[in-house]
Amino acid sequence: MTGVRRISILGATGSIGRNTLDVVGKHPSLFRAVALACRSDWQGLVPLARRFGPRVAALFDEEAAARAEEALKGTGIKVLGGLGGLLEAASLQEADTVVSSIVGSAGIMPTFAAVEAGKVVALANKEALVAAGRLITREAGRTGASIIPVDSEHSAVFQALMGQDRSAVRRIVLTASGGPFFGKGPEALAGVTPEMALDHPNWKMGPKVTVDSATMMNKGLEVIEARWLFDIPAENICVLVHPQSIVHSMVEFTDGSTLAQMGIADMRIPISFALGFPRRIDLGLEPLDLTALGKLEFYEPDREMFPCLDLAYEALRREGTMPAVLNAANEAAVEAFLEGRLPFGAIPEVVRAVMDTPPVFDGDTLAGILKGDRMVREAARGIISRYGEHP
Ligand code: MG
Repeated sequence: MTGVRRISILGATGSIGRNTLDVVGKHPSLFRAVALACRSDWQGLVPLARRFGPRVAALFDEEAAARAEEALKGTGIKVLGGLGGLLEAASLQEADTVVSSIVGSAGIMPTFAAVEAGKVVALANKEALVAAGRLITREAGRTGASIIPVDSEHSAVFQALMGQDRSAVRRIVLTASGGPFFGKGPEALAGVTPEMALDHPNWKMGPKVTVDSATMMNKGLEVIEARWLFDIPAENICVLVHPQSIVHSMVEFTDGSTLAQMGIADMRIPISFALGFPRRIDLGLEPLDLTALGKLEFYEPDREMFPCLDLAYEALRREGTMPAVLNAANEAAVEAFLEGRLPFGAIPEVVRAVMDTPPVFDGDTLAGILKGDRMVREAARGIISRYGEHP
């Protein structure tokens, strides 16, 4: 690694963004933040901009951008607003690496813009690959952009595949913590409140991914993400529940070897790997103490209790626009659950219903996928409204 790597962070105020800035802040000789972008949290963004002094701060929400501009007057930081601002931060000429960590399908366009600009993309936004995997990987092939996963499971697989004979890969084994309801029995899912779903045992994450972990849709989305990142068919990707979250994923080879990547559950590890690749960064973290843990456990996922996992496999099998349908329907359902408009157990029901009569749209263009995303949400909202007020 030569010189300082210049980083643009999309989703700077979120969990991944803040962890990224923690790594950047500890290693000023290696990394510099040149752009910080977020959706609307100007009060979160302004202190980060003051501290890290990027050239550009971008906010999707125009009103929030105006507030940020006022607050950053005299700092020399250029404040950009709207989708245009976000896309400029994603393709900024002086950025070497773009951290794509805007949550949900809002991250599709900025991720595509970074890939289109040929950047190194440290990808945390899994929804972009779920909804537009073919399009994004094809564009990366055209521009030479490299996509390095930040998702801990995919970072593990990426690391286990380094220097390996790809034709000897038999299976990818993604591990799942199981979330807060693992091993509790189906009755535990009745009356789940957002607070209960947001109480993840191992990882500190944003609300969308935490709810997805509780339904195991997160693992389903990760199976689709793995399909595109590693160009491996769905039937060769399997999921194991591993409650300790120490083995972050594994690759099985035809000679009977299995390579696993292990570490404590700290997102700064996969983030720093993506930022520094191929160099590893000393994070000053406590080493992994396996004797203190004593045991590592692995279980088959309970596919009846968590039907979202098989919905994702089904979407991948049905191909075409179906993964985008799954993704948008899930996002609408999770949003409704967090706002108290949908019971927890109805999240897979909504996704199932939309997948049964999916809107028809063009999955081969970015415009088509974004339009489809809106159509699916609309369809999901219609289904959600029939559940009425959830106490
Ligand atoms: Mg993950």
